[in-house]
Amino acid sequence: MILGIDLGTTNSAVGVVDSGFPILLANEEGKRITPSAVWIGKDGSIEVGAKALRRRTLEPDRVVTSVKRLMGRRLGDLEDDFSLPVEVGDDGALRVLGKTPEEISAEILKELKRIAEWRLGQEIAKAVITVPAYFNDGQRAATKRAGELAGLEVVRILNEPTAAALAYGLEKLDERSRVAVYDLGGGTFDLSILEMQDGVFQVLATHGDTRLGGDDLDEMILNRVLQQTGLELGTISRDARVRLTEEAERVKRELSTRDEVVFRVPFVEGGQSIEAPIRREELERLAAPWIARTLRHGRQALADANLKPEDLDAVVVVGGSTRMPAVRQAVAELFGREPDLSQHPDEAIALGATIQGGVMSGSLRQMVLLDVTPLSLGIETFGGLMNVLIPRNTTIPCKAGEMFTNAADGQAAMRVRVMQGEREMARDNWELGKFEVKFDAAPKGQARVGVQFRIDENGILEVLARDVATGLDTIVTIESAAVNVDDAAVEAMVSESVEHAFQDMAERIFTEAKMKAEELLPAVEMVLAQGLATEAEREEIDQAVTAVRDALGKGAGNPLKAAVQKLDAATEALAARLVEQAMDEALERRLAGQ
Ligand code: AMP
Repeated sequence: MILGIDLGTTNSAVGVVDSGFPILLANEEGKRITPSAVWIGKDGSIEVGAKALRRRTLEPDRVVTSVKRLMGRRLGDLEDDFSLPVEVGDDGALRVLGKTPEEISAEILKELKRIAEWRLGQEIAKAVITVPAYFNDGQRAATKRAGELAGLEVVRILNEPTAAALAYGLEKLDERSRVAVYDLGGGTFDLSILEMQDGVFQVLATHGDTRLGGDDLDEMILNRVLQQTGLELGTISRDARVRLTEEAERVKRELSTRDEVVFRVPFVEGGQSIEAPIRREELERLAAPWIARTLRHGRQALADANLKPEDLDAVVVVGGSTRMPAVRQAVAELFGREPDLSQHPDEAIALGATIQGGVMSGSLRQMVLLDVTPLSLGIETFGGLMNVLIPRNTTIPCKAGEMFTNAADGQAAMRVRVMQGEREMARDNWELGKFEVKFDAAPKGQARVGVQFRIDENGILEVLARDVATGLDTIVTIESAAVNVDDAAVEAMVSESVEHAFQDMAERIFTEAKMKAEELLPAVEMVLAQGLATEAEREEIDQAVTAVRDALGKGAGNPLKAAVQKLDAATEALAARLVEQAMDEALERRLAGQ
């Protein structure tokens, strides 16, 4: 299993593909969203999420929020003040409350990992983590390191807009499509224009502001209320300020669905309570210049990508602040189309990361464009060996073929066993089907049967076997088995193949050498019977034959392979002389016939 993680500035979320469905996992409080907040106690103890935020009222200086802003940064490139003092260690790395941004992010990731493991009742060690499209290499590497510190192998760092597009299922759009992703969260705004082709997303342009988000509106509402009540921000306690900001946020959220909400906080200062009704129009008036800023970035991104709004195939909105009707309306006006609202704005990115994880672990098979074969497909050949035609992780649709021949003289049919798996011996893999191809009886190695595997976009495997001499085809269809393989079974097969790698390889070497020996020994005998060998040659060949027989008896692969090679070399000169003699005789016959 691979976790999909949205490591956000304000909030984070984690998901996994369970029984074929991408789902996000709720924490103990029943929330699928965990605040990206970390409380670091004086004694080094840690709390993450809502528990950390609750401690902010008592210990505001020990709660780190928005640590994402510091990821992969040096003091010189910090845009402005961080909420807490930032120090620089001897190594040049930033530190907040004695910890690096990676270490703090790792605490959030550990918490998400813990939630997932608790929900699923199993350990999970791999994750896909999303980052903003504008993150540079250093910021991406820092995110990866944070994952490693949390005990996760980060199998992919995924761009947030790409994750959103995956959640909306946009990879299923026509061949080449362009999508705008408008992401307005609590503290950051990004607008990315993506182009999707053959299941691969490319970021054409990305614009935004790392200091623009819903928090600005909370502050605007708070200032407005304070103005009305005559209270000064500077004179109120930190604790009261936290409570007032929380209320401002609640009011803002409620105004997305209601026309009027009362801002109400009892006992702010000296027993004074605040009660102030706010109407949606008022909020929208306050928000207008703020929304206009996002639109400017949108126009700029379009210009950078050299596109007009009508060139886009879809517009999606993500981030909690896009719940505001005024924001949605502005987006619709800018792009000349209604945004796609089918996904939960807070969850789309984590869901996209989860889908990506599902595709990578082979547990999501329905996605056409990004689908790959979870395990290798092939047929059994001589000696019971697995002959792979389509290797594991090949993107479908695909096809591959190979020519096969008969193993014995006079053989008039060949059994084709279609196998799936990673082991060297066919018997250790899974049989998907078998059938027989008939051909005219031919001496050993003379029949020609072409076998082709074709997997269509629905994951259906079609096996075609053609007798080259007659052109007759046998076609067998294997429905979905090729691609619809249970996640756990794939993992078991792959780990078994790793576990048995040495043993399997030794068996393959032995089987191949044995087949060669079985071919060579009777041939050598025939050659010797012609009496053309010199005494020295005969002795060398006899010795080599004994060595091959010995090795065969012992069942050891590498010694047998070496002995067969030696026997081959020992008979080489003699075999060449025989061929020469045969040619001379043929020439003589032809001359005599003239
Ligand atoms: P995100 O960073 O995507 O988690 O978004 C968080 C931001 O979305 C915060 O500023 C929230 O106040 C804001 N938000 C969440 N729900 C709503 C809503 N219903 N209306 C307006 N803003 C909201």
